[in-house]
Amino acid sequence: MPPEQTVPPDAPIVVLGATGSIGTQTLDVARRLGLQVVGIAARRASTELATIAAEWPDAVVVAVDPGDDGSALTDRVGVRARFGEEALLELASTARAMVVNGIVGAAGLRASVAALNAGNHLALANKESLVAGGPVVMQALARGGGSLIPVDSEHSALAECLVGEDLGTVRRLVLTASGGPFRGMVRQQLADVSVGDALAHPTWAMGRRVTIDSATLMNKAFEVIEAHYLFGLPYDKIDVTVHPQSIVHSLVEFVDGSIKAQIGEPDMRHPIQYAITGGTRPAVPPSGFDLTQSDLTFEPPDRVTFPCLDLGYAAGRRGGIAPAALNAADEVAVAAFLAERIPFLSIADVVSATLEQTADVTPGSVDDVLAADAEARRIAERHVASVQHDA
Ligand code: MG
Repeated sequence: MPPEQTVPPDAPIVVLGATGSIGTQTLDVARRLGLQVVGIAARRASTELATIAAEWPDAVVVAVDPGDDGSALTDRVGVRARFGEEALLELASTARAMVVNGIVGAAGLRASVAALNAGNHLALANKESLVAGGPVVMQALARGGGSLIPVDSEHSALAECLVGEDLGTVRRLVLTASGGPFRGMVRQQLADVSVGDALAHPTWAMGRRVTIDSATLMNKAFEVIEAHYLFGLPYDKIDVTVHPQSIVHSLVEFVDGSIKAQIGEPDMRHPIQYAITGGTRPAVPPSGFDLTQSDLTFEPPDRVTFPCLDLGYAAGRRGGIAPAALNAADEVAVAAFLAERIPFLSIADVVSATLEQTADVTPGSVDDVLAADAEARRIAERHVASVQHDA
């Protein structure tokens, strides 16, 4: 994307993943700013979705899976209720919309592509879209002529730092990582860590998978790949630094030696607001955040203890379906760790072994990406089973 955003600040908003963490915070921002919400979608029909729908009377309401609560949703919101994946994709294609994609998982990829094919502005929080489907998403962006705006805190920070700058003058992008709960430990200390230890993230409250991905640094590896697609820079210009306070959200170093950083309280509502208002900075009440109360420290990532970071760089450089396999294998491995089927250190082993068995293929469509995803899951499951067998 170009550093300058071209989003009209009054574009009608569609929220995909409306009951999730990004979705509810997007609705908080929309409520605070009095923005128009024309669509909300969630994976399942639920009382929570019906309650949100009642608050936004102009919104089409999509539940991909009607489940047991589908008819209750229709009773509550009438003809505004729609069901199924087609309805989700139609909603993502709403003309001239600002589509916030907060869907968790691979289901978000099709919605991203639909939004971009329709020429919409896509505020992207769904990781899989760019990590797994980068080549396909970038094709859809070029085809539709809309815009792709990061919602992830690090990429939003980079976008803020790049406003008014020429990408040709960037020496490197520096993504900050909190380092997760195991920062400062060495490999041997991680052999027996429990699920509870790994879920205790020091600064950000997030879902279970992304919290484990933060503990392995795989989350940062995904963000490196996302940055590559979002800003169109090669991997050797994308760096990671560990910054445990999570106050500096990322930095850009320019060829003249100048470094710009974006700093603020860790609060996802900032990057969400920045994205959906086109960077126009509507005022919000002061948060009480006090920079004088924060130490800002930086250290290099420990690439031996946390090999997932370099697995991510390697998959990113391979390109094609390798990042999709990286993501799928990691999801399988993290689920196996959470189910106490494999130890923490085996997460990287399962991902690495899966990547070794992944062919180099360029995906031409969402179906190609999803096929690669499914194949990597099968391979990763076999490796999980063999780790269990050896244990
Ligand atoms: Mg992030």
